[in-house]
Parts: sequence; structure tokens; C-alpha cells
Amino acid sequence: MSGMLYLVPTPIGNLGDISVRCRETLENADFIAAEDTRVTLKLLNHLGIKKSLVSYYEHNKAAQGGKIVERILAGETCALVSDAGSPAISDPGEDLVKQCAAAGIPVCAIPGPCAAITALSISGQATGRFCFEGFLSTAKKSRREHLDSLKKERRTMIFYEAPHKLLATLTDLAEAFGGDRPISLCRELTKLHEEVVRTTLDQAVAHYTENPPKGEFVLIVAGAPAQQEESPSETDAAARVSQLIAEGVSRKDAVKQAAKELGMPKNAVYEIALKDSESINN
Ligand code: SAM
Repeated sequence: MSGMLYLVPTPIGNLGDISVRCRETLENADFIAAEDTRVTLKLLNHLGIKKSLVSYYEHNKAAQGGKIVERILAGETCALVSDAGSPAISDPGEDLVKQCAAAGIPVCAIPGPCAAITALSISGQATGRFCFEGFLSTAKKSRREHLDSLKKERRTMIFYEAPHKLLATLTDLAEAFGGDRPISLCRELTKLHEEVVRTTLDQAVAHYTENPPKGEFVLIVAGAPAQQEESPSETDAAARVSQLIAEGVSRKDAVKQAAKELGMPKNAVYEIALKDSESINN
């Protein structure tokens, strides 16, 4: 009989945020796979739990994943934790979940602390539709491609960022989205110095140039405003009429059809078509 993989979220600051179910799962698991065993040991000591730990992090996950899967297939139950927050969300775990799912191992995610959702909830930005963008790459090309792909994004965007990279990221966001785009900077969530700064990208750059950023940040950036639908121009009308005429439609019918297609008054299209043909003939 195979065991099970549990994804156990841990507090992002306030230790009181560990849930009863998370605590019980950590107590009952056969072993815990942790991103940093020293960080998890501190939490386990706080909870009074003694448990065997294995490390599972970005640079050993290829080798460790297989071993963890084998143990679960042999019947053990594994609880996966990261340093803080929900495992597999910008944290090691995504690959282990894939490996377990492929091996037919049941995976259970326990709901709990997640910096992205905590920040979104208090951001004051639209929460109806949002997208999680994680950390921007530090490699210039993929960073630019990522930001370019978001220029027309209408949904609220969530980014993670480290304090020492914050100013460069805000500058790049302002360049990509325009300096007047609203942003909420959510810092040190659930901790003593929790703070939400609701401002614009330009003002955020100015603020953090003056006051070097400290602590952990989630950036909640408003989506692009809806584009005003462009009303059909004279050029569109003239082009459509001459296209229809070229296809053999009479001028009268071409005007009628173009006006209908573009939602313009017939008289206006007639005038435009007339001006156009005069300018061609002269
Ligand atoms: N898996 C985690 C989660 O779901 O919350 C996120 C892990 S990711 C490696 C770490 C990033 O989460 C930080 O760089 C920061 O952007 C954000 N973060 C974590 N704790 C935070 C906190 N207390 N306040 C603000 N941001 C936090």
C-alpha cells in the first residue's frame, strides 16, 4: 500500500498561524521533507514535535525527489514544508507533486498561509481577477520578455521580491507599465512591522530611493486600464468602400455595406467615399 504526500503550509511570520491540522499532520507523518532543515527544526521545537527530517530544496530536488517517492510508495507518509508559506508556490515542491502524481501517489494540500494571497487581500486593488507572476528573472532578456508579455494584462498582478532587488524591480515595472500605475507594496506581513503602502510606481521608486527597503515584500500591481474602443476612422470607411468596389460591388451598395459594418451613418460614409475618389482622380 502506498503512503501519501501532504503539503503543509507554515507561518510567514506569526507562529500563531500554524493550524491544528498542520500541526497534527506534522506529528503524524513518518518523515518531513524540508527546504531548510534548520528553519524547520526551529518550528518543530516551537511545536514540541520530534520527527525525522530530510532536506528537499532547489539544488538537490532532482536527486531527492526519487528517494522521497520510493519511500512513499513503500507505504510512508511524507509532510513537505518550505521555509515559510505554502510549499510549491515559488518554493520547492512543484516537481515533487508532479513526481508523486505521476507515480499514482495521493497528494493532499492543507490550506494555510501564503504571502501572495495575504497581500492581495489587503492590497485594496481589484481582487476579482488576478495573476501570480512570482519572482521576475534577474536575467535581462527573460525579465524584459516577462514584462513585455504583461503590458496589456488587465488582471491585478502579484509579484514576489527580495528587498535588495526591490528598487530595480519597481523601476522596471514603471518603465513597462507607466509610472502612474497603482501599486500596493505589502511588507513584513503578519510580523511586527507589517505595512501596506498603496501608491503609484513612480512614487514607490521615489519613496524607496529615499528609504532603503527592509524586510519581505509582495507587490500587488493594478492591471492595465481598459482601452477606449477606437471609433472607426475615415480611413477605415474609405478603405472598405474602395475594397468593395474593387470586388465588383456598386458604389451605392458599397457605401451601404461599409456603413453597416462600421456602424457609421450612410451619409457620412458616402461623403468620405466621395472625397476619397475625388482625391484619387485628381
Ligand atoms: N511559498 C511562499 C508562500 O506561499 O508564501 C513564498 C515563498 S517565496 C520563496 C518568498 C517570498 O514570499 C518573499 O521573497 C516575499 O516576496 C514573499 N513573502 C514571504 N513572507 C512574506 C511576508 N511575511 N511578508 C511579505 N512578503 C512575504
